[in-house]
Amino acid sequence: MNKFTIKDIILYANPCFSCNNSIYLDLYVFDSLTRLDNRFSISIKKEIVSIDLKISYYNKLNLKINIKNNSFSTENIDDFIKYLQYRNLYFECICSNCGSYLTTQKAIFNIDKLYLEPLELSNESMFIQDKKFNYSIFLNFKNKNADVVITDIYNPLFTENKIIQFNFPILNVRKLKTKEKLIEKINKIKILL
Ligand SMILES: [Zn+2]
Repeated sequence: MNKFTIKDIILYANPCFSCNNSIYLDLYVFDSLTRLDNRFSISIKKEIVSIDLKISYYNKLNLKINIKNNSFSTENIDDFIKYLQYRNLYFECICSNCGSYLTTQKAIFNIDKLYLEPLELSNESMFIQDKKFNYSIFLNFKNKNADVVITDIYNPLFTENKIIQFNFPILNVRKLKTKEKLIEKINKIKILL
């Protein structure tokens, strides 16, 4: 399994594989106690990610992470430790144009070393099309599989093969370089099924 700095994740996801748009990064937080979730937009200046985490209705806690080496700092480490107690944090790359997205596995902060452990990819969704079909591709990096849903562009309720499950090495999706090559590969595998 490949491990990434935040910068690696941004480079991996940009530009959008499906539509070439630039992709933005945000932080998804799930609170296991309240079952509530939250998304925080991330600004990056001079390779430092800055996020204002909401620790209570009135209080915020600023977290800064160096995207090149994953070192982090925060205004108050005790508050940050408390913040992490019931919350899982995930980074997401989202394309606002076509809806493609990529999520990491849970971010693990090494409190002693003030360092965000290398990130691992969790899921990626891509939405691409050729002249006849829409291909919705759902990659699961943990299980190393991919589901592809193919629907007719002009008749979306008609799902050609419903869901095709692939077991191909997922990272090869990026090695295919273009969506046309990815579609070609999907169709080749489809014929063999
Ligand atoms: Zn896109």
